[in-house]
Amino acid sequence: MSDLKERLKRLIASDGAISVADYMAICLFDPESGYYTTSEPFGVSGDFVTAPEISQMFGELIAVWALSAWHQSGKPVPSMLAEIGPGNGTLMADILRTLNQLDPTFVILSRIGMIEASPRLAEKQRQKLGTGKAKPTWFPDVSKLPKVPLILIGNEIFDALPFRQFVKTDSGWRERMVSLDDQGELSFSVGLGSLDQNILPASAETAQEGEIFEVAPSREALMDLVAAHIAKHGGAALFADYGHLQSGVGDTFQAMRAHGYDDLFANPGMADLTSHVDFEALAGVARRHGLDVTLSTQGEFLVGMGLLERAGAMGAPLDQQGRQAIQQDVDRLAGADQMGNLFKVMMIAPKGVPLPPFGTMD
Ligand code: SAH
Repeated sequence: MSDLKERLKRLIASDGAISVADYMAICLFDPESGYYTTSEPFGVSGDFVTAPEISQMFGELIAVWALSAWHQSGKPVPSMLAEIGPGNGTLMADILRTLNQLDPTFVILSRIGMIEASPRLAEKQRQKLGTGKAKPTWFPDVSKLPKVPLILIGNEIFDALPFRQFVKTDSGWRERMVSLDDQGELSFSVGLGSLDQNILPASAETAQEGEIFEVAPSREALMDLVAAHIAKHGGAALFADYGHLQSGVGDTFQAMRAHGYDDLFANPGMADLTSHVDFEALAGVARRHGLDVTLSTQGEFLVGMGLLERAGAMGAPLDQQGRQAIQQDVDRLAGADQMGNLFKVMMIAPKGVPLPPFGTMD
């Protein structure tokens, strides 16, 4: 048994049940045994494969988006191009390589920022990017960024932030907790805490007993910081993550290990814990700062940015096997039954700044 599981059991035995959010925060970020602090999550040998690790085309199209967002913002100087939650650093490496080909002045004129909570992953990113022409600066969180226009990218960052769960009971919505069962094993229980009824979506009214509603104050807090920065200093942000465009009732808590679902309590600190991102809630936060919000599926976004044309150009000099491999990557990134529909893209910018590929939407 992992030492973290033992520690969690001792903590709960002495202090009582902990929230789903606290369980997730400890499992992912415990300084000694947390998932992001100690494991190698990404890629074929890890637990899950993210879009930038599937194909360089993802980062190339994001680079085009970032360049266009900078142009549409009036090419501000100074400005910062930053990524939050950069994992292995692959996405930023692809973005910088592409920008150096498309318009090196953007890279020369911008400061490059990396916002990473895990010191181990920040070190990995330093090794990957530290030797290039553009010298990034690392920041522990968004509030430390310089007060200049910001073009910010984040792939699978929101799903990595803790969320809370509430269970419908005969006495209303109660917070779902992690506690110990009769055998002393980690298990769910229902706590006493409730929630502000005003945040419940209309669909929650007909929820049956036992159904789950999820809220993520830490995700909304991150969006609040980013939106406040962009509302005050200008710029734009783009986030891709798996989740839903409308808030709703449902249990989406999951553990991923070695490319498959894992029991939520079996391997604390050794499995990735996530839940679907509620983009409607995040969009509401950004709109309260007066920003425009554009939401789409990842498939619509990538195809709109020219995924098929880029794949065609990359495949042209290759043999049939090479072209097939590229087609497979296109299907994984944008196919309706793969990441194309489940993953969503959210963009925010001050009102009247049209962003590709859809222009201004609301
Ligand atoms: N964007 C990468 C990695 C996604 S995993 C990719 O697509 O491959 C989530 C990343 O977010 C990890 O690098 C993790 O350490 C980081 N992270 C988690 N919480 C964070 C926070 N509050 N601030 C900054 N980075 C965070």
